[in-house]
Amino acid sequence: MDINQIFENNQNWIIKQLEIDDQYFDKLGKGQSPEFLYIGCSDSRVSAEELMGLEPGKVFVHRNIANMVPNTDLNSMSVINYAVVHLKVNHIVVCGHYGCGGVLAAMQQSDLGILNPWLRNIRDVYRLHQKTLDKIENEEEKYKKLVELNVQEQCINVIKTAEVQRAFKDRNLKVYGWIFDIHSGQLIDLKINFTEILKDITQIYTIAD
Ligand code: ZN
Repeated sequence: MDINQIFENNQNWIIKQLEIDDQYFDKLGKGQSPEFLYIGCSDSRVSAEELMGLEPGKVFVHRNIANMVPNTDLNSMSVINYAVVHLKVNHIVVCGHYGCGGVLAAMQQSDLGILNPWLRNIRDVYRLHQKTLDKIENEEEKYKKLVELNVQEQCINVIKTAEVQRAFKDRNLKVYGWIFDIHSGQLIDLKINFTEILKDITQIYTIAD
């Protein structure tokens, strides 16, 4: 692809946006107050705003390989802090997707260098849910289930943070686990029952008053 095409696309986009709303960029320049924090995969086929049908300014986005929220990752922890404490988002979404290369790599036994520690977080999800996963004989179904369980565990990692726990109490912030089905384009709400999942471990992870 000719890189100049990108700048041409940009010019066309500006014209299109101004046709719809001639104040568009004046409004964008005034600042952001997104309602959503979206944590998703870096996969080029899964673009946050497009799949949610939302305009720029509506979603604060964090993407990395396999939509992970490792507790020691300064990047995702800073994003959560900024979104919850400063932007005061009311909804946090962790969105995984079927066909995730990161999750598939974590299911295979190969040395991937610097990716190893990152992918080990997914292997830990497998270990936590080994009984459920080992029961699934069909490899494709097992892969899908791990994608879903990974989303669930990353949601729990979000909930483990003090900022989110405080926002739960102060303003009833909501956390959701979603899957983007790359084969149909459908967004699936996993409807994770956090009350049920967290009932035995709340005491362990509660850190905010
Ligand atoms: Zn992915």
